[in-house]
Amino acid sequence: MMSEHVFAQIGTENLSHAYLFESMDTEHARAVVDAFAARLFCKDKVPCKSCPACIKIAAGTHPDLMRIRPEKDSIGIDAVRAMTRNLSLAPLEAEKKIVHIESAHFMRIPAQNALLKTLEEPPLYGIIILSLSNAKRILPTIRSRCRLVRIGETKRPATIDRRLLEEVLTDAGNGNVDAAFKSVKFFQDYKDHKEELLQEIELYLRDLLIFKTTGEKTLLTDPGLSERAEQNRMEPAQIIRVLDLLVEVREGFRRNVNFQLSMERILIEMLEESS
Ligand SMILES: [Zn+2]
Repeated sequence: MMSEHVFAQIGTENLSHAYLFESMDTEHARAVVDAFAARLFCKDKVPCKSCPACIKIAAGTHPDLMRIRPEKDSIGIDAVRAMTRNLSLAPLEAEKKIVHIESAHFMRIPAQNALLKTLEEPPLYGIIILSLSNAKRILPTIRSRCRLVRIGETKRPATIDRRLLEEVLTDAGNGNVDAAFKSVKFFQDYKDHKEELLQEIELYLRDLLIFKTTGEKTLLTDPGLSERAEQNRMEPAQIIRVLDLLVEVREGFRRNVNFQLSMERILIEMLEESS
């Protein structure tokens, strides 16, 4: 289940209090966390699959392995606070206590900030694991406190021309209807990479929102964006609406909603306010 390559990254001799597991496959990441927990909690320190600890991990009932999953594509501050309270209590059966936050990029900014406090002073027995498809999707302040573990073949969204995407979104944000609709063709090229395209749009809009509301360059995934951000005249409230729409579009893709119509909805939402 868990390759030695992954184990070497985890660093079994020298465990970290916080990990970022980067994987495109949510279920695989979950299995790796379970295998990691089993190696730590198993009575023989190898996943024997038959001791009480191994059985409880497999059943999802081990009291010292806590898992948080997004609800409706969101992990709220309440979930993070509940996790922090739980983590402050010593482990019941194992020597360590593991918290796994799944699809951690769904934590809203306040939730990420709440988590940051725990990451700064974790209990000695505590291990916090965040899993997500791309480490860039989380605040750099969190990233810098976690040991990065790449699991399996992590597809990088490098196939998407970010500069061109930014131009397209700037045209739409500034109400340039003609230019924006020409860009539908640009989107067509990524029809088979829907999730990567949505991720890139999301990263850009989040950067734009952070820069427009805080003026802070260090929080951006693309620090170079700060110089170009003024060109996009979208207001923060509108950026938030488009980010919410992206959540809807992502759900739609799971139900096979038409790709082109979905991308047009995003463009229309961006065009609306400014035109
Ligand atoms: Zn065991």
